[in-house]
Amino acid sequence: MKRYSALTVLAEGLSGQKGWQPAFRTPDPRAGYDIVIIGGGGHGLSAAYHLAEKHGLSRVAVLEKGWIGGGNTGRNTTVVRADYYHPESARMYDLSVRMYEGLSRELNYNIMYSGRGMLELIHNEHQMELMARMVNAMRLNGIGVELIGRDEVLAMEPLLERGENVRWPIHGAMYQPKAGVARHDAVAWGYARAADALGVDIIQECEVTGLVVSGGRIRGVQTTRGIIGAERVGMAVAGHSSVLAAMAGFDLPIQSYTLQAMVSEPLKPCLRTVVASLFIGVYVSQSDKGELVMGGGLDRCPSYAQRGNLPMTRSVLEGLTALFPSFSTLKLMRQWGGIVDVSPDSSPIIGPTPLDGLFINCGWGTGGFKAIPVGGLLFAHTLATGGHSEMSAPFDLGRFSSHRLIDEAAGAGIAH
Ligand code: FAD
Repeated sequence: MKRYSALTVLAEGLSGQKGWQPAFRTPDPRAGYDIVIIGGGGHGLSAAYHLAEKHGLSRVAVLEKGWIGGGNTGRNTTVVRADYYHPESARMYDLSVRMYEGLSRELNYNIMYSGRGMLELIHNEHQMELMARMVNAMRLNGIGVELIGRDEVLAMEPLLERGENVRWPIHGAMYQPKAGVARHDAVAWGYARAADALGVDIIQECEVTGLVVSGGRIRGVQTTRGIIGAERVGMAVAGHSSVLAAMAGFDLPIQSYTLQAMVSEPLKPCLRTVVASLFIGVYVSQSDKGELVMGGGLDRCPSYAQRGNLPMTRSVLEGLTALFPSFSTLKLMRQWGGIVDVSPDSSPIIGPTPLDGLFINCGWGTGGFKAIPVGGLLFAHTLATGGHSEMSAPFDLGRFSSHRLIDEAAGAGIAH
């Protein structure tokens, strides 16, 4: 892997950037691989990297119908946090946050992780009691969260509405000091570059259109670039999981919804933390470019529409400007949507499927960016061994028939 010094960067800038090396190869697909991963989002790329790095498997391909990170990974609002309720999820998301902290170094690629802390606002005494229970449960699971009062919140974020006789007064917050944000594209590119350097083929513009099945097990995939054989196949296609499962002949308990986000014009630094209100259904952080990155809840109806719409924009902006009245003068620059995969208990599904040799990673819903490091690690283990690690076992698809759900609907920050 070519390394660039500060001088090379300067020379490239002055000479029209003619000497840059591509970050990864663009190979043609081979006839067959040990493992094929469908979906070049964060989870597919992270799994490919871990397959090569931890399990020594490099006859691996990632097949992406568009460009890597072009799905939800490059459309999300990049909040990384671990404030989940149940022990199974708490330890998994907590490991992911810790992996994010060291990821730039591990991948030798600046993913711009910023552990700036997150405030989940509380607006009245009743919500305070509710949040106290959540905080206690999380602390019992070893997660670093605390309840803080109004004065501390306003000292951290002085632009928040200070009035007490307003629609959403600030009563306090759940504060998670280690939560933060990272650069989403860089996470995809960093994993892609590191996986490629270990021999993984990353093949873009290669849509999987069918599965090759014989003798009761999967043998490969049909794609827009021909048939590609595989011993094992993993699918990490988020909002399209049910479409792929239908090709394999089984149903998934997943519904796909549009989730939207938007950014303002850039500003000088004015927000220190990520600020969310679960009760209003709005959250905001400030990007390194200065834009306010904002989002809210899901669209109401299931859909495969990958675009924004006015009613959701309005609802997010109403909530945001109630919290930060001074933001009401800002211009909105862009809005967009992604298709997220929501499971009945708002927890992911990782592991084998009813089709022998086919494995799944999906159901991350509105919160899978934060889980890319750990999701890839666990999925790689499943793909390499055919079985579960202790951490992924509770997230098996079988939990929906054995009724051992991990209900995180309330613990997930923004309801999903
Ligand atoms: P994706 O990144 O969607 O990748 C799946 C890939 O599969 C896509 O690139 C797609 O093109 C490809 N694909 C689909 N079908 C096929 C096929 N047939 N053949 C080949 N390729 C195929 N999470 C957080 O943790 N924090 C947040 O702040 C946050 N905010 C969000 C805001 C928005 C607006 C959205 C939409 C999502 C947000 N999320 C957030 C959720 C997060 O983005 C996702 O959970 C996560 O990116 C899922 O990653 P993935 O790799 O599973 O899926």
